[in-house]
Amino acid sequence: MSISDQLRNLWEVQLLDVEIMSLEEKFQNLDRGEELRRKIESLTDLYNKKSEEIKSKEISLKEFELELSSLEERKKKDEERLYKNVSTQKEVDRLTQEIQYINQEKSKLEDKILEIMEILDSLREETPKIKQELENLRISLKEVLERAKKLEEEILGGLQDLKAKRLEKIKDIDSKLLSKYEAIRKNRRGRGMSKVIEGKCSECGVELSLFLIEKLKQIDELITCEHCGRILFLTDN
Ligand SMILES: [Zn+2]
Repeated sequence: MSISDQLRNLWEVQLLDVEIMSLEEKFQNLDRGEELRRKIESLTDLYNKKSEEIKSKEISLKEFELELSSLEERKKKDEERLYKNVSTQKEVDRLTQEIQYINQEKSKLEDKILEIMEILDSLREETPKIKQELENLRISLKEVLERAKKLEEEILGGLQDLKAKRLEKIKDIDSKLLSKYEAIRKNRRGRGMSKVIEGKCSECGVELSLFLIEKLKQIDELITCEHCGRILFLTDN
């Protein structure tokens, strides 16, 4: 087989190789839900944090309410004593002062209770929304994983076909030429061959000398681009 015939076959091998590379890249870059998984993870953390916060606020609320009721109890007792059985003005003053103090403390506690209740309200409103969003994300992740699995199968099937075609094609190519092609493509984005288009190497874009192009046209031998080193391939189209 002439070199130019072999080059025609080798060109077809390169077309297959380019397709194989692009499928392999597609396979590697498939969305396998990494981003969604990260979102779910951080949202779960947030949900747990908010749930813990609810629990601790509920505990504080209970404590404050207990405190408040014990203050009320104290106040009630003081008032009873004040109205029923006080004997001295000193005692009246003392009780009045204490009731005043209890009222201040009660008012502080009521403010705190109100504040906690407001926080609890917003937390209780927030957490179901987070839970719903988490559920939606989990559904999306499931869909993404199913799609990825389907695409993986498709790509692997495609790769198998292409590789079988490639094996068939390289049978007609001289093994030395093939290993040269392989060696060149290793360091050149997987392309060991380049078409000559309008006097230029189509891969690196360098303008080829007329002498080289004439040689390509007339002599049946292997010629590589002086710039990128790829095997040059001249076609009519
Ligand atoms: Zn080149």
